Amino acid sequence: MNRNPLVQSLRCAACSGLISAAGEFLYTCPHCGPAGTLETLYDYEGLAEAWLRVQASGERGLRRYASWLPIQSADSLPPLLVGDTPLTRVPRLSQALGLPNLWIKEDQRNPTGSFKDRASAAVIAAARDRSIGLITAASTGNAASSLAGLGASVGLRTVIFVPASAPEAKVIQLLVYGAEVLLVNGTYDDAFELSLEATRQFGWFNRNTGYNPFTLEGKKTVSLEIFEQLPHLDAVFVSVGDGCIIGGIGKGFQDLYRAGLIDRLPRLYGVQADGSSVLSKAHRRGYLEADPGACTYADSICVGEPRVAHQALQVVKESGGQFLTVSDDEIRSSQLQLARLTGIFAEPAGATSVAGLNKALQAGFIGPEDRIVSVVTGHGLKDLRGAISAVQTKAVQIGRQPSQLADQLRLAGIV
Ligand SMILES: *Cc1c(COP(=O)(O)O)cnc(C)c1O
Ligand SMILES: [Zn+2]
Repeated sequence: MNRNPLVQSLRCAACSGLISAAGEFLYTCPHCGPAGTLETLYDYEGLAEAWLRVQASGERGLRRYASWLPIQSADSLPPLLVGDTPLTRVPRLSQALGLPNLWIKEDQRNPTGSFKDRASAAVIAAARDRSIGLITAASTGNAASSLAGLGASVGLRTVIFVPASAPEAKVIQLLVYGAEVLLVNGTYDDAFELSLEATRQFGWFNRNTGYNPFTLEGKKTVSLEIFEQLPHLDAVFVSVGDGCIIGGIGKGFQDLYRAGLIDRLPRLYGVQADGSSVLSKAHRRGYLEADPGACTYADSICVGEPRVAHQALQVVKESGGQFLTVSDDEIRSSQLQLARLTGIFAEPAGATSVAGLNKALQAGFIGPEDRIVSVVTGHGLKDLRGAISAVQTKAVQIGRQPSQLADQLRLAGIV
């Protein structure tokens, strides 16, 4: 069921097989199973023409790019503003790093506080185009809270599988939005399998990252925005767990390239935690090996079995970019570096792109002439425990008598 006439076919990332977009909805390649993530291909001359209307439209957020998405129209999207996030100059961080042309893409400003809103909005549009009333998902936290929040805005029922270890704020967000929440006594990868089983048994529409092809398409919109905000750039840094965000970023630039709007792809740098680095290892070794023991305090990128591995590896390679890994302590110091030099409070996985930027600078992958975007994918308030583990300083306790104020400030070394 193809709702946008510009959509032509689906291509499997694993076997490169082409599937007609005119048939019934498919999650993954019928030959390759869950590893065969599907990429949506368009009539690119049609997209080039549609781009002229995009620029003239005055629409904001994902609505602006409806003609570049496999959905019926902008009205299929949820009413909250998703996307249209600022590309912010950060002069103090620029100066500290010696990178005069550095911008932060502030995706923590999305309605539920993470980049995942882009994918959830596209999946919800797909569900509404098909008159589907219930969506399920497995998530480390943000995909779920995003689906629950945007689902609430259009009256969709959401049934969510999250690992019991998910940060409290993300689970509370789900309950506040009215989702039906299943806390899985297991890992994210276990939650993922259970949600697939629910889809098989009950026919529920499944939002899972990579598994549902609309996630990749929703996520590509960040590249369309970055292109409009900064037509020439050299490098993009982003944190990587399942690989759907970086795969989507790559897809966005590839669609711009195929439509003739850009003549080269920016280098993509995927940043992983040392303890959860399946894709970095695969990039280096040339083969993929899951890691059931994957572990990092940056919960959003704690993934042992990346679901969008093929696309993630492919877009990084094609762009001439790299994978980098950083330690949890490097992520902690980048969370503070970012907050204290820019005023942007990112969750650990959100600050991981900046930790990677520091690494890439040391490794000589980037230099002062490069025009660089670092994507912040999630808000700091999503994970207070993570933030607490980064902050060394303590608040100073003082009494309430004004007569003793000066003494107490002197004692604290403030005056
Ligand atoms: C999901 C998420 C990521 C990683 O995205 P993948 O598609 O899993 O690679 C990074 N940061 C935040 C805040 C996220 O929620
Ligand atoms: Zn296939």
